[in-house]
Amino acid sequence: MNRLFDEKESWTNEERKARQDEILAGMVKLGYAKSARLKQIFDTNKINPLKIKSREDLETLPVTPREKLVEMEIQEPPYAGLENPEAKVDRIFTSPGPVYEPHLSENDYLWARAFPAAGIGPGDIALNAFSYHLVAAGLTFHTGLRKVGATVVPSGTSSAQIQVQLIKDLKVTAYVGTPSFLMSIINKAKEMGFDFHKDFQVRKACFAAEPLLPALRHSFEKDYGIDAYQMYGATEVGDVAYECSAKKGWHICEETIVEIVDPATGKNVRSGELGEIVVTRLNDIFFLFRFGTGDLSRLITVPCSSGRISYRLAGIAGRVGDTAKVRGMFLAPSQLKAVQGKYNGLPLQAIVTRDGHADQLKLRVEKIFQEIGDAQWEAGFKKYFQEICTVKIDQIEYVSAGTIKQEEKLIIDLRKW
Ligand SMILES: [Zn+2]
Repeated sequence: MNRLFDEKESWTNEERKARQDEILAGMVKLGYAKSARLKQIFDTNKINPLKIKSREDLETLPVTPREKLVEMEIQEPPYAGLENPEAKVDRIFTSPGPVYEPHLSENDYLWARAFPAAGIGPGDIALNAFSYHLVAAGLTFHTGLRKVGATVVPSGTSSAQIQVQLIKDLKVTAYVGTPSFLMSIINKAKEMGFDFHKDFQVRKACFAAEPLLPALRHSFEKDYGIDAYQMYGATEVGDVAYECSAKKGWHICEETIVEIVDPATGKNVRSGELGEIVVTRLNDIFFLFRFGTGDLSRLITVPCSSGRISYRLAGIAGRVGDTAKVRGMFLAPSQLKAVQGKYNGLPLQAIVTRDGHADQLKLRVEKIFQEIGDAQWEAGFKKYFQEICTVKIDQIEYVSAGTIKQEEKLIIDLRKW
């Protein structure tokens, strides 16, 4: 059994629920008093804030998916009026959409629970290969690592070659980042003439933002002696769940209320059934209730051999709706529409596939003008696309005008989960 972060992780489910319900009721009351938008949501839906006393009562509130949050923030920048205007905000993050999020206070446990569960703590030198640039990932994982006493190498998205150099020179023991990037680093190390397992000391890895495919996990563990762990969260709500040494599901963080709902109705499914992960983060800055992640999972309620009592998520079974995550970044219809807007409504379609362990993004574009497909046009288009959508296009397929039907989806996700 590995170390618990604090005593909350050994609370009984009854105790956890009672304490969370109390904090939730306080958050609703505060939010209703401070946030004009939240007051409006409650009043429009004829909900009495004093009647939200437990997680079961949350069901009366609408689920807010990412796309809806983007819309709300466009109407009322920067935080859709969901914030506590009196709260002191130390950082503001953005993620594609754009969505703006006020960073939770330094006292929040953001990502600190995941690391002890993976055996990372004092004495570890952790390479944090998540981006520190604008997005929340880099700094929040960094803070979590510091909270558990690990030394952080803030390498961010530096090239694989630089990462290899850092791993070697600084005797890095743990990696935090995406699984595909760690594999790129391992391949680069081989190219540079190293034996990753023999020459380096990386023995643990915590992954997020991308699914860890079983074959890749097997390779990390068997071929390179790296104990691999998954973490799950979203910029809008912070950390949500993390894997422990039992590796049988992801423990739900103590600061989050997770519901598994039917995406069509927003009502909770029966315990153990598949549904959308809907998250409410208990905090006093940003009153985003029932954030719809668009990810599908189910709840495991039986106790875990790791000694943690909290319920677990049984991994991610797929995505609800049209948004897709490509190389850890969301690609949303709203972004593609923005690209279309710049190019006179150019008919296009994004197709997401997987090549080995790497996501591939192909864009199908109708050749409605002569210049479409020219090297100069393509370079400009790719550059603009990446500015808006953050992810890079791997391939463009040009099709004749009228090929993409109006009723077809903007994003087609062909990956198997
Ligand atoms: Zn466990």
